[in-house]
Amino acid sequence: MGELEKMLLEGAKIEFLSEIVGRTIFMFLLILAILRLSGRRGVRQLTLFEVAIIISLGSAAGDPMFQEDIPILYSVIVFICVMGVYKLITWFTARFSFVANALEGKVMTVVKDGMFDIKHENDHDFSKMEFFAEFRNQSVEHLGQVKEGILEVDGTMSILFYPEEDIQFGLPLFPSTYVEINVDLHAGPFACMYCGNIVHSFQNESKRCSRCERATWTKAIKTKRH
Ligand SMILES: [Zn+2]
Repeated sequence: MGELEKMLLEGAKIEFLSEIVGRTIFMFLLILAILRLSGRRGVRQLTLFEVAIIISLGSAAGDPMFQEDIPILYSVIVFICVMGVYKLITWFTARFSFVANALEGKVMTVVKDGMFDIKHENDHDFSKMEFFAEFRNQSVEHLGQVKEGILEVDGTMSILFYPEEDIQFGLPLFPSTYVEINVDLHAGPFACMYCGNIVHSFQNESKRCSRCERATWTKAIKTKRH
């Protein structure tokens, strides 16, 4: 047996080859499912597909490098299967939108008309602090500047700004101004620190937000964009 042949085939069991095909397809789908359930925020920029491929092929590519008893033939079969499943799924996602939604998720409205869209409150994807950072990265000083903010499936934020003359009072997003205040000691308008709701004065004693029922307020600001 030549050196090359040994490297490629030694120890390979022909009857095991079809099992590798089955195992690879199963594991690849399992990895995709787990990544999908773990939420898209953790895999910014990379699509779930890319991560699944990296994980699947990483081990298939790496293990034969230093494990003598794994014939490279096995890895080659894994590679072919992963790419085959990948091609098949992309074919389906291109044709059926429900497949795309199931795998990649849908775009999500985060801010609407200058306020956080709180219907996602219990969604584990909806982590407000990350959104604060995302908006600050795009130089948004307060939510009153934002007509609509959309979280794309790749984890990036798309922002539609109000024209300058339509900027409203909004929830400040930078730490120097995002500070809780006592509403009895300050003049309004106030911004709900949780959902961004703006209140000019309180009608009742409870001082709770009419949108989200919380009672932490900061001073709303209305600065223009620079
Ligand atoms: Zn609120």
